[in-house]
Amino acid sequence: MFPHLKGFNLQQWIDENRGNWGQRRVIWEDSDFIAFVTRGPNRRKDFHINPGDEIFYQLEGELNLHYLGKDGKAELALLKAGDLFLLPANVPHSPRRADGSWTFVVERTRRPEEQDRFVWVCEECSNTLHETTIRFNDPSDAVAKATAAMKADPKLATCSRCGEVLDL
Ligand SMILES: [Zn+2]
Repeated sequence: MFPHLKGFNLQQWIDENRGNWGQRRVIWEDSDFIAFVTRGPNRRKDFHINPGDEIFYQLEGELNLHYLGKDGKAELALLKAGDLFLLPANVPHSPRRADGSWTFVVERTRRPEEQDRFVWVCEECSNTLHETTIRFNDPSDAVAKATAAMKADPKLATCSRCGEVLDL
């Protein structure tokens, strides 16, 4: 993590560490805000429900930001390099990236009573298939566990309404 009260060059930091970045590197989390840079490729079908707002700034490549509208209908925001996007709190969203996609993200540090939810929905009829709730600490681990559970038990990935099986 970077110190407070001291600037640094984001582009230079990325360029120096590009080769072994992993999926996500945190800039600050000892703050009212959690700021990180995340990159593609990723593969996720979950939708994250964050009790706070999230700001996305697309640095390189494209971000397919899938989200569910008020009626539960799947929508897609396509962010290109230089695009800035505010995702309001509690909007289920699923950021999907190809290789070469780099995004700067800012979210709010969670309050002690707050929990994050991850939901999987049927791609045919938007019915909720599966859900997991976590205290936000390591979201990628929680999502990986829930995804593994759904892969191990196809019933969890099968829509009770229309019978469609989610391709995880
Ligand atoms: Zn369905």
